[in-house]
Order: sequence, then C-alpha cells, then structure tokens
Amino acid sequence: MSSKSTDSDEEITAGNRPTSVSNEEWNQQTLVDARNVLQPQISEASWQHFHEQQSRKIDKQSSYPSYVLHPEVIPSLNDVSNELNKRRNVHCNDSLALETLELEMPMDIASSLQDEVERAVQHRVTHDRNHDQEYLVKIPTDFENSFQSISTSESIDPINQINKSFEYYRQESFLTSSLSHDKTSLREVFQRIKISGDSYMPYIEDLEDSVAPLLRALVIREKYMFFSLQSYPSTVANFLSKTLEEEENITRRASLSVNRPNIGEPYQVRPPVIKREEAFQIPLLPPIDVCVKAEKGIYCAYILNDEKEWITTDYPSIDRNGFIEDYILLSKMITDGPLKSFCYRRLQYLKAKFELHCLLNEVKEWAEIRSTPHRDFYNVRKVDTHIHAASSMTQKHLLRFMKKKLKTSGHMQVYKRNDGKIMTLQEVFDELKVTVYDLSVDLLGVHADRNTFQRFDRFNAKYNPIGQSQLREIFLKTDNYVDGIFFADLLKEVISDLEENKYQHVEPRLSIYGKSIDEWDKLAKWCIKNSMYSANVAWMVQIPRLYDVYYANGMVKNFQGCLTNIFQPLFDATINPESHPDLFRFMYHLTGFDSVDDETKPEKPILTADMPYPDEWNIKENPPYAYYLFYMYTNILTLNQLRKARGLNTYQFRPHCGEAGTAAHLVTAYMVAENISHGLLLRKSPVLEYLFYLCQIGIAMSPLSNNSLFINYNRNPMLEYFERGLCVSLSTDDPMQFHFTKEPLMEEYSIAAQVWKLSSVDMCELARNSILMSGFSHEVKQFWLGSSYQGYGVAANDIRRTNVPAIRIAYRYEAFCEELRLLSLAYKNRQEKRK
Ligand SMILES: [Zn+2]
Repeated sequence: MSSKSTDSDEEITAGNRPTSVSNEEWNQQTLVDARNVLQPQISEASWQHFHEQQSRKIDKQSSYPSYVLHPEVIPSLNDVSNELNKRRNVHCNDSLALETLELEMPMDIASSLQDEVERAVQHRVTHDRNHDQEYLVKIPTDFENSFQSISTSESIDPINQINKSFEYYRQESFLTSSLSHDKTSLREVFQRIKISGDSYMPYIEDLEDSVAPLLRALVIREKYMFFSLQSYPSTVANFLSKTLEEEENITRRASLSVNRPNIGEPYQVRPPVIKREEAFQIPLLPPIDVCVKAEKGIYCAYILNDEKEWITTDYPSIDRNGFIEDYILLSKMITDGPLKSFCYRRLQYLKAKFELHCLLNEVKEWAEIRSTPHRDFYNVRKVDTHIHAASSMTQKHLLRFMKKKLKTSGHMQVYKRNDGKIMTLQEVFDELKVTVYDLSVDLLGVHADRNTFQRFDRFNAKYNPIGQSQLREIFLKTDNYVDGIFFADLLKEVISDLEENKYQHVEPRLSIYGKSIDEWDKLAKWCIKNSMYSANVAWMVQIPRLYDVYYANGMVKNFQGCLTNIFQPLFDATINPESHPDLFRFMYHLTGFDSVDDETKPEKPILTADMPYPDEWNIKENPPYAYYLFYMYTNILTLNQLRKARGLNTYQFRPHCGEAGTAAHLVTAYMVAENISHGLLLRKSPVLEYLFYLCQIGIAMSPLSNNSLFINYNRNPMLEYFERGLCVSLSTDDPMQFHFTKEPLMEEYSIAAQVWKLSSVDMCELARNSILMSGFSHEVKQFWLGSSYQGYGVAANDIRRTNVPAIRIAYRYEAFCEELRLLSLAYKNRQEKRK
C-alpha cells in the first residue's frame, strides 16, 4: 500500500504543459526557475518583507458587523431563552400557526441565497443559454405547496441532451478545460434532487420553533470565532448579515459576489520553499510598549499612550459571565424537544439526499475525475489532522529505532535514576534484563488491544515501551537527560518518510504541561537545535488537563499557576522577542493548541458563575472541561489579537472533544474551538450535530483509534457525518498504538474505504476537508487546493489539485445553501408575523 509517487512534476497539468518541450526539459526548467527566482526571494527579500510588515505600533482593530456588537436586532438571548422555557409543554401546531404558515411568501423574499447558488453554478455558462431549459414538471402552486415531492431535474430536450452528453464525453477533460471556456454548464451535467413546494414557504414541522434558537446559536459562534481571529464560513456570515441586519442598514460585504475561478491563470502560486536549515533563521522584532496582566484568569493587554500612561487596548473580549450565559442557552437548546426533532429530521434528510445524489450522479462524478490528468487519490495532498508526536511512529518503527540505538549508542549516558545514578542506555536495558535479541513488538507492548476498550487508563500506560516509564522518558520526551535527542532523531525518521511520500502531511502535537515556566523555552530550544522543520509538518501544542496532579505534587499553588506557565512566556516572546528568542522563532512555526485528556473523568458538569476564579482555584479538584477550555480560549484570543497587531501568525484552538464523557463538552467546543478531534458524541445530540454542519466545523475523526477505545468500527458515526455533509477528515491519533503499516494515514483511509465502501471521490473529498481544517498557511492551502479555495461553491475548488469533481462540490454547496435558505425564509416569516 504505497502511495509513493514516481513523478515529481506535480505542478504541471496537461493544460499548462507546453507541448514542444519534453517533460524532462520542463522539469529542468522549473528547477532552474525555482532556484533562481524563489530562493533568493526567501532568504533575503521575503524575510525583509516579513520584517518590514512588523510595525512598532499596534494596529487599529478592525470594526465588527453590527449584529455582533448589537445583538438586539436578532432574537435576544432572553427572548430565545424565554421561548424555550415557554414551550416546554406546548406544541406549536395550533390552527392559527398553520394558517399563517400556508400564506404565500412574497416574491421579494425569495432568497438572495438562491441567487448565490445560481451564480456559483451558472457563472461559467455562456450567457445566451436559455434558463427555461430546466426540466420541471409544472404543478399548480396550491398543489405544490400542499406537499413536498421529489423530482430529479436535468436538461430537457432528448436530442439536445444527447448532444450535450456527447459533448461531455468528447471533451477530453471536462472541467479542466471547459471551466474556463464555458462550453458546458454544470447545471446540465448532473441530476439535482428538487423538493417541489420548497420554493415558497414550505410547511416543515418545528421549523418555526427552531429558527430563532438556531440563528442565535450561529451568531454566538460567529462572535467567538471572530473575536479570537479563528475562521467562520463566509457563506454563513453573509447569510447572517443579510437575514438579521435591518433592511435599511444592510452593509453588504464585498465578498458577496461569487469569486471568479482562477482556472487558466498561471499555476505558480507555490508557497515559498523554506530550507530546513533556514527555517528558524527568523529576525527578531524590536520590543513594543505593551504589557500584559492576568485578571481573573484572563490576560489583558495594555499599551502606553502619549502621556506615558498604561491604557487598555481595544481588543474585543469575552467575560466569563457572558460565556456562561451563552453556554447555558446552548445547553438548553440541545435538550429542547421541537428543536431536537427538527434538527434530526434535517440531518436524516441530508443523508437521504446525499444517497440519492450518489445514486444519480456517481458515474458522472467518476467520469469527471477520470478525465482529470495526472491527479488521483494517491497524489492529492492529505493532512493527518490529529496525531500525537510521541506516538507518531508505528510500533515496528519504534522497535527498530530502539535496537539501532542500543547497538550504536549503548555506552551513552541517557538516564538519571531517582537515587542520582547516571545510567547508560546499555545499563538501562541490563537492569530490565532485556537484550537486543529479546526485543520484539510483543515485548514492547505499546499496541492497543482488546483490553484497552473503555479503559483509557490502560491505554495511557501503553505509551511506556515494555511497560517502563524510563524508556518512555529516554525515547519519547523532548526534555530529558539527553535533551530529547533520541526523540528528535526518531521524529526526523518519521518526517523523512513523509517527505519521501510527498503528499502526506501531519499536524503532530508536542506537549506543554503548564507545570513550570521554562517549559516553552526548553521545547523551543529542542526544536531549533534539532531543526525540527519540514514542509510536511505543522506543529501544534497539546496541553493535558492535569492541574490536579501538579497541585497534589506542589508544582502549582492554584489554577492561575498553570495558566501563567502556559501563557506568560508566549506573551513575553510576542511583546519582546529578545527575551525568548528561540520561543519567538518556534512560535512562527506553531499553528495551534490542543487540549487533551481522558474525557470520562468525573467532573462537575455545569459551569456556574459562583465557581472560583483561577487565582482562587486552590483546591485539589480538577476544574471541569468547560472551565479549562474557556480560559484557554480567552487567553488565545488576547494572544491572537496581539500577534495580529504585530503582523505575526495567529493560532487555532483545536481541542479533543466528544470522544467520551458528556455531550456538554461539545457545547463548549462549539463556542470556542475552530475545529475538534473525535466528536463521536455528536451522534447523540442532533441539535449540536446540525449546528456543527451549519458552521462547517472540522472534525478530525480516527475510527481505528475509536475502535480500540470507545466504539466499534462498524458503529462509528464517521460515515453518517460524511454523508450528511459535516466537514470530517480522517486522522490516525496514535499510529504507535493503532496502526501496522509504514503509512498509517493511508492505512486509515484504506480501512475506511473498505469497510464503508468509500469511492475515490469520497476519499478525495475527505482529503480536501483535511487541508481545509488544518493549520497550514494560506499560501500552502492555495497551492494544495487552488488559489480561490476560500470562495464559494465550485469556484472554490480546483479539480486539478484536489481531484474532487465539481459535481460533488456543487451538490454540497447547494445542499448547504438550501438549509440556510430555509432558515432565512422561516425567520422572515416569523418577523412578518410579529409585525
Ligand atoms: Zn488524540
């Protein structure tokens, strides 16, 4: 199962390839160009540019849309809350409600979202194509409104049809060449499922009851993402601003228009190639006049004004009471009856619709990717979105590495015993009475097995090779007697395998515990000393929720102690890079934060306003999940705002969530996390699942890991999420514990494909999702997905890069817009009624 690609000319497509020049010549030329053009740019010009971008002053913050700062224009928190309370016992299907529902919606409400869909699909069509060609059985309006029927639509006129399909097959590469030339319209090349009766206000049970809470929930997430500079889908943001803002003061955003596809434009949006040895040669920025202070657990930034006084910055902030209010509202929502059944039915509808779509269009999707030159599943970029560095190698790899080190470095002093004795590697093994010959994967015992199911404690113990924590410390830690040199060597082997494979990328998590203030400096030093950089790797940091352990061992006095250890060095390095030069450089390559631990640990389930603040949290009990996430989030928010003001990179927050424990964890993540790992428990909460769909929140799923720990493979909800259109990706979690082959990510894909009968199209879509949710930079994403990947619908996809057919993308986008449109219609209907 090797995905190694033999050809290296992946930047070239048939469309762009000059025919007069041979491939070898072309490659040669590219290489020369790259050397001449790219590299000097990076080493001098681009660093200089980077340097110039940084100003000494803090930038003025951008303004926020009015509905974020003035939420009174939409159903307020209290409104929604009262509404939910009121209808605990009442069902809203009295005759009056029904009567008003059946009123025909005025035409001008016919959603502008629909226009957006149309434009996304049609903007490539030659203008003179007759719109009326669309085939739709004409049903009298009153009849149409009385029930919803399904019809498939395709272009009429059998003769025309034959011509078109001929045209379609004749075209050597359907979308690669035709997208720019507009010979064929997407509208005609695939069959859509139409629910007639949908065009006006359809009667959908519980819709009226659901719209206000759902919109409120969308706005809540938008605020949290917006403030912390994390991502939020622009389609939803536009939808909200159009639906919620008062008609007269609509501030239409420029981004509304559908982006023109960049097909045909030059292909070289290649991100700068950074050499490993130069990756950390980042010039330090001068210090700025900013100071930070933790107040009730949240870092606040102050700047020096002209009168030399410290004044607060205008960074947005979220206070704990506001957070709790939102949290309680969302918690209420997920248990609300009508809302639950509405969301459940929409999710079922989406699934059924997807199945129909595949039934009708599978062959066409297949034809589309078959006609795309060069690209296939093996050479589309895919990111392992959730993997822990300490278990990123397979058991066999670890075994081989340990044997090698025992042979070549047996004499090396590697470990300091509790009694102070310094031991060589050979002595460590002698003490365990293990020889090189004895070592086998069975003896190593790091693989998860039947005995780890529902036993996270046993699973955690699997991190110790041969059950010995000293071996874990020697081989799998960055901070130990040998300064993590073995771990660095091991990771470099993992990375070099990835680089050889070229198309596989990882986002490994390194640990910061929060038990001492110098952890960050040590980690950064380790990274730089060992040149831990690769274009295939985006580093993340995971923070285990272990306050109770550190407190019991006297390492911290209160929870604030942990927060200070985690965040103070990051602020210091950002404000005055000279104070932590290594850390400042490492932070340039860091992309995000993860929060990890066993979610099944018992905890106080509800976050309340009377809980002690972090500086008063000096009890042996561990704070609950939501408490951890809230303080992580607010501090990342301040850090991101400060870094943005300095022109530096910002961070994503991507906690483990919903692997086990309660669904309430997902409520917190819905508010504060850009995307999550696992999300298994979403299957138990239709409201949250629907919200995760509407916000397209990434979910890194690891069915093999789940199979060993929490849920059998055949019961894993991954396939269902995918069919419903949630933004899911496949990831390995811990190859050391779960995988057998040299390419764990391919193993993960392969098994999913076998068990669930995923097609190539499905797998490429999953790979595309993995890039979208990853922390790789904008330039890199442009290179991997196409230059307008942030746009809407088909225009955002470049099949030559992603191998995802435009038909699939169009289907997903239209289905998504239909859901939004439904909410928009229902909301306007509701407002009309209130007037
Ligand atoms: Zn994990």
